[in-house]
Amino acid sequence: METNTETVVKNPTAIGFDKEVFKKNVLDNLKSLFRKTMETASQQEIFQAVAFEVKDLIIDRWLATQKAYKEQDAKYVYYLSMEFLMGRALGNNLINLCCYDEVAEVLEELGLDINVIEDQEPDAALGNGGLGRLAACFIESLSTLNYPVYGCGIRYKYGMFKQEIHDGYQVEVPDNWLENGNPFEIKRPEYTQTVKFGGYVRIEWDAERQRNRFIHDGYQAVNAVPYDIPVVGYGNNVVNVLRIWDAQPIQEFNLASFDKGDYLQAVEQENLAKNIVDVLYPNDNHYSGKELRLKQQYFFVSASVQQAIRKYKETHSDLHKLPEKVCFQLNDTHPTVTVPELMRILLDEEGMEWDEAWDITTKCCAYTNHTIMAEALEKWPVDLFMRLLPRIYQIVQEINRRFLIEVEERYPNQYNKIRSMAILYEGQVRMANMAIVAGFSVNGVARLHTEILEKRELRDFYEMMPEKFNNKTNGITQRRFLLHGNPLLASWVTEKIGTDKWITDLPLIKGLEAYADDTKAQQEFMDIKYKNKLRLAKYIKEHNHIDVDPNSIYDVQVKRLHEYKRQLLNILHVMYLYNQMKANPQMDFYPTTFIFGAKAAAGYKRAKETIKLINSVADVVNNDPDIRGRIKVVFIENYRVSNAEIIFAASDVSEQISTASKEASGTGNMKFMLNGAVTLGTMDGANVEIVEEVGAENAFIFGMSSEEVMAYEANGGYHPEEIYRNDPDIHRILDQLVDGTFSHGDREMFREIYNSFLAPSYGRADQYFILKDFRSYAEARERVNKAYQDKARWAKMAMLNTANSGKFTSDRTIEEYVRDIWHLKKVQVTL
Ligand SMILES: *Cc1c(COP(=O)(O)O)cnc(C)c1O
Repeated sequence: METNTETVVKNPTAIGFDKEVFKKNVLDNLKSLFRKTMETASQQEIFQAVAFEVKDLIIDRWLATQKAYKEQDAKYVYYLSMEFLMGRALGNNLINLCCYDEVAEVLEELGLDINVIEDQEPDAALGNGGLGRLAACFIESLSTLNYPVYGCGIRYKYGMFKQEIHDGYQVEVPDNWLENGNPFEIKRPEYTQTVKFGGYVRIEWDAERQRNRFIHDGYQAVNAVPYDIPVVGYGNNVVNVLRIWDAQPIQEFNLASFDKGDYLQAVEQENLAKNIVDVLYPNDNHYSGKELRLKQQYFFVSASVQQAIRKYKETHSDLHKLPEKVCFQLNDTHPTVTVPELMRILLDEEGMEWDEAWDITTKCCAYTNHTIMAEALEKWPVDLFMRLLPRIYQIVQEINRRFLIEVEERYPNQYNKIRSMAILYEGQVRMANMAIVAGFSVNGVARLHTEILEKRELRDFYEMMPEKFNNKTNGITQRRFLLHGNPLLASWVTEKIGTDKWITDLPLIKGLEAYADDTKAQQEFMDIKYKNKLRLAKYIKEHNHIDVDPNSIYDVQVKRLHEYKRQLLNILHVMYLYNQMKANPQMDFYPTTFIFGAKAAAGYKRAKETIKLINSVADVVNNDPDIRGRIKVVFIENYRVSNAEIIFAASDVSEQISTASKEASGTGNMKFMLNGAVTLGTMDGANVEIVEEVGAENAFIFGMSSEEVMAYEANGGYHPEEIYRNDPDIHRILDQLVDGTFSHGDREMFREIYNSFLAPSYGRADQYFILKDFRSYAEARERVNKAYQDKARWAKMAMLNTANSGKFTSDRTIEEYVRDIWHLKKVQVTL
């Protein structure tokens, strides 16, 4: 792959780290922050004291980075995202500052375990799942690759909820992640922006310029106050910024406004500010048309775009050249109001004509599509949109009007083209269409997904503007998901391939291939896996009070709970296995622990029923003496980035079993592969490319192809009751959903799941083709179980997965975005 040609000299060791100074400063911090000593401080207070010291290490690099950007007049990408699923910062900051081991030693000298201190930090869970974690990996890779970026998002008071399991059911508990403050953030009140909602638009004649002026009046305003979180690059002194916005009332409620008769106005503005950033919407891949959600979107977009323009104008006078210095990357349609907001600023505040404003806007905005599923597409009702954002709505109308003229010119009298591509249609604002029309780039997130966009979902747009479309297969950062999450394997990789350069050049990990048939290396690789399995077993024992056998196969499905991801297929197959083993206690079967972890959106009934089913099956299977522990089912509570790192390192089998065509990419699949787990999956999303890299003989592929699925869908589905009638094993497991086998005799508990296959109250029967793929899945799982019993063969497969994971670093993804979309230059930072 072609990359930026300027070379970057890595300088990982020369960071001026002094253990004794660090130790003294941590002790001083304890005193000044808490008036405590090492003997009296709590673990949480020690974490705070350490984290403040690490922030101090970061500050000089942060200043140096911003200075270098300014000197070189660097171009920035503004990565606009409603979600940044960052996880914990302490460990990864230390790793990227190249002083993790030194700090671990300092803490040990103080009688502390660095892992215990790291465990004190709450996850920054400002995201749901894959989309938010992608944003986090991207800004880390941008920093490591010396590129200027601002991550722009929202400082939710409550992030992704904490999941508790009570009697097998999910209970959501608010995530008060800022309870003890965030030692890494810095409030920047000097960059406060004002964001306006509601009101009306007045038109005035500007005689001097002989044109109309649009004046927004009667609005309510809030202040957007940014908090900056440093994003440290690996060993290169670069520190970029994640800028998340908090909402504050414009003026403190005061009696003066009461006197002026603005009493209601003042209270309303205060209330508006109070709830905008209260909570992250816990929906993954699902649109829920809530007014507050649109407020959140415009709030952080308006603040970010205003800030970007203000910064540009500090050193530039000609806004026509904005595209040379600024690119707004829209992470899904959530920040699409960027388009009309930038237009508004250029038209109303900068006094530009439409055409010049449009030219600039369309050269600055690029859009990433994350899903083709209808229920995830954002379509705002026009009445809501125009009431909340009256001036923005006028601009959207004009964008739509002009675009439809183009469509009409190109496709005279073809109403179907207007129906599919209009931005305003049947009383709705279609955000994806606006992002495509205004963006200069539209990218999918894996090859198969991009092909489906071009050939099917966005076919008309692709025909009209093919040059915009491109693919950027997702990636993950190996600094978190190998170096930090799996230190044993990381050291072993370095030893085997004779360099640690894989840390910033993951394809070098291919060097492991030379050891694939080496018996000693196989043994070492599996020994490390075993140690990681012990670590996870300990975690499960502590948190779930279940004993798991580290010698069993760890077969793992961790991801958001969603019907298309088919956790239901997995647990139905466990029920099938249970029946087999009850009928034939001597059956050939290698003991397996089936591990699940998943949060369900708070209002997603079917997803919550599935969690209850998994826990109910676990109850029966784990406690049946006939099974003798050979099948275990574990549901890990509160799946999130920090325990994900432990889970990936310990996994043998990676369950990636979405209905083909539904998972745009997946990134969990890549984290498993990197850690030497073998994929059991469908030909969906990035699984296709994983199999291409590792070879079909080193993965277990099953199920319908995306073509087959889409062909059935075009014909209204299929008939699951035929399978139910003709396959006695499937007949049995479905019946067990309603005969009380897994519900202490309760025949209603899983009735709706049963009905979804045979008598759905809405939609198609078995919409996600679970029964259709069941036999193929069962057969693939049998192959897995057999393959594991050949220790050498399994070790080789697992090692080859790690060895061939090089493509899936987010460093590669970022270099492709830079080459094709952002056109950034690398910036050297010296201290
Ligand atoms: C990577 C990751 C995801 C995305 O997983 P998929 O299997 O791709 O859906 C979700 N949640 C967390 C915590 C992750 O780390």
